[in-house]
Amino acid sequence: MSKPILLTVDDDPEVLNAIERDLRQHFRTDYRVVKAASGAQALETITELKQRGTQVALFLVDERMPHMTGTQFLVEAIKIYPDARKVLLTAYADTETAITAINQIGLDHYLMKPWEPPSVRLYPVLEDLLSEWHARARPVFDGIRVAGNVLSQASFAVKDFLASNHVPYQWLDMDDEATVRELLSGAAGGAFRLPLVFFPDGTVLVQPTTRELADKVGLQTRAQKPFYDLIVVGGGPAGLAGAVYGASEGLRTILVERSAPGGQAGTSSKIENYLGFPSGVSGAELARRAATQAKRFGAEIITAQEAVEIRREDPYRKVILGDGTELTGYAVLIAPGMEVRRLEAAGCDSLLGAGVYYGAALTEAATYRGQDVIVVGGANSAGQGAMFFSLHARKVSMVVRGPNLSATMSQYLVDRIADTPNVEVLTNTTIVAARGDGRLESVTVANGTSGERRDLPVSAMFIFIGTAPRTSFCGDLVMRDRQGYVLTGRDVMTDGRPPSGWTAGRDPYLFETNVPGIFCAGDARHGSGKRVAAAVGEGSATVSMIHQYLQSV
Ligand SMILES: Cc1cc2nc3c(=O)[nH]c(=O)nc-3n(C[C@H](O)[C@H](O)[C@H](O)COP(=O)(O)OP(=O)(O)OC[C@H]3O[C@@H](n4cnc5c(N)ncnc54)[C@H](O)[C@@H]3O)c2cc1C
Repeated sequence: MSKPILLTVDDDPEVLNAIERDLRQHFRTDYRVVKAASGAQALETITELKQRGTQVALFLVDERMPHMTGTQFLVEAIKIYPDARKVLLTAYADTETAITAINQIGLDHYLMKPWEPPSVRLYPVLEDLLSEWHARARPVFDGIRVAGNVLSQASFAVKDFLASNHVPYQWLDMDDEATVRELLSGAAGGAFRLPLVFFPDGTVLVQPTTRELADKVGLQTRAQKPFYDLIVVGGGPAGLAGAVYGASEGLRTILVERSAPGGQAGTSSKIENYLGFPSGVSGAELARRAATQAKRFGAEIITAQEAVEIRREDPYRKVILGDGTELTGYAVLIAPGMEVRRLEAAGCDSLLGAGVYYGAALTEAATYRGQDVIVVGGANSAGQGAMFFSLHARKVSMVVRGPNLSATMSQYLVDRIADTPNVEVLTNTTIVAARGDGRLESVTVANGTSGERRDLPVSAMFIFIGTAPRTSFCGDLVMRDRQGYVLTGRDVMTDGRPPSGWTAGRDPYLFETNVPGIFCAGDARHGSGKRVAAAVGEGSATVSMIHQYLQSV
C-alpha cells in the first residue's frame, strides 16, 4: 500500500521548498510529501492521485496565490478528497479570510507564516490533524480498479477475465457513484468508453482487450523458448493435466490458453464429484492449484492467446497463434474442450451482458442479489448454476426443455434442487424471447405441451444449453466427426488400416489422432467422458503415449 500524501501548495518557491523540507523531515516515514507551485497544478496532481487510488491525508496551502487562492483551491480539492485535512498558510492580514474559510469549507486550521520553530508551531498541529484523519479514513484499495457499467458486455468481459485469472480488482459501478463518474470524465476526457481499468502505477486502459489486460497484469502471453517437446492447446482440466505430467516428467512443455486456465470446470461454482474433495471444490480453485502445479514443474502457461492453426512439418508440429506467433515442437496435445451453444431466441443477442449471460457468470451473482433470475438448461452445469444463484437471488426459475431433470442431471443435484425452496423448475418449457430497454426486464416462455406462452419478469438469465467442441482450428489436418469432435486411436482406423498420411510403423496410440505426434484429450475428443476426472485422466495418460512417440523422432 502506498503512503498517504501530504500535499503542499505555494507559488513562492522559497516558501514551498521550506515547508516541503520541514514536512519531509518529520513525516517521511509514514507519508509522502508532494508539492505544487499553483492551485491549478495541485488540482491536476490530485486528480491523478485519485485515479491511482492514492490517499491524500492533508492539504497545506498558501492562501495568497495569484489566479487561485488557497481557499479557492480547497473548495475544489475537497470535492475529490472530502476527508483530507485542510490547513491554510496565512499572513497576519489573512485572519479574516481564514475565519471565512472555516465556515465555508470546514478549514481545520490556519498557520501563520513563518512557522518557526516547526517542532512547536507546525508538527504538533499537523500530528493532531493527521491522527484525526487516520481515525476516520477508510483504507483505499490499492490494486486494480475496473470502472464500468453493470449492464455492459465489455465491462463483464474485463471482470470475467480478471476473476478467472485470479487477479483481484475493485469494481466501481459508474451508475452508483458520483465520484466514479468524476474519475471517468477525468481519465477519458469525458469520452466514457467503458470499462476503464485503473492500475496502481497510474496507467489507465480504455476498453482493453484480454491480451492488453494480460500483458498489463503480468500474465505470460509469449513463449520463452524457441522449441518445445510438448505444446498443449487449451488450459482446461485435460490440458492442465497434460502440462503437469509433461513438465514433471522433464518435457519442455508450453500450454496455450485463449482466456484463463480452468476451462469449463473453472466456471463451475462447486465440483462435488472430483476424487479427493468430499465437500466439493470450486472450479476456480482447482484451476488455480493445477496451473500453479504445472508452473512449479517448469511448464510455461501463456494466456489470452488462441491457437488458430496446427501444421505438420515432419518431424515438427507447429501451432500458430492468433497474433501470428509460431510455436514449434515435437508433439501437440489438443485439449480445447467445448464452447457454449447460443440460444436462438429473439432479443437475446442485444441484451448480452445486460442481464443475459452464457454460463455461470459467477462475477455477476452479487449484482442480482434479491432479484428474480432464470437459469436455462437441464444438465449438471445448469443445476449447479441454479444452486449457486439460489444463494443470492430471491427466486431462481429453471427453464428445462425436457419433461424432467432426472434424464439429464446427476441425481444428487436433482435432489438438492428439490430441497431448495427458492428454485422452481419449469419443465417442457422453452425461451421464446428476451425483452428489455437497455437491460433484461422479462422473458417469454412457451410450454411445449400446451403451447401456452407467458411473460416472466426477471433481471437476469443464465444460459446453459449445451456445448460444441472448439476444434475448428484443427482444419483438415486432424480428423473429426460430424459434430467436430476429434477422432483418436481406433476411431481413425478404417478396416484395421491406419489413415492416409500415417507414417509411423505402428497403429495410432489410444489418444493419438490421424497425425503421428498430435494427440487429443478431454471433452473435445470423440467418445470422451465429459467430466473433470475423465479430462484429467486423459490429459495425464496422454503423456506416457507422448513419451513413447518422442522415442521415435
Ligand atoms: C458450469 C459447469 C459445471 C460443471 N460441473 C462439473 C462437475 O461438477 N463435475 C464434472 O466432472 N464435470 C463438470 N463439468 C464438465 C467439466 O467441466 C468438463 O468435462 C471439463 O472441464 C472438460 O475439460 P477439458 O479440459 O476437456 O475442456 P475445457 O474445460 O472446456 O477447457 C478447454 C480450454 O481450452 C481453451 N481453448 C479452447 N480453444 C482454444 C484455442 N484454440 N487456443 C487456446 N485455448 C483454447 C478454452 O478457453 C478452455 O479454457 C462442468 C461443466 C460446466 C460448464
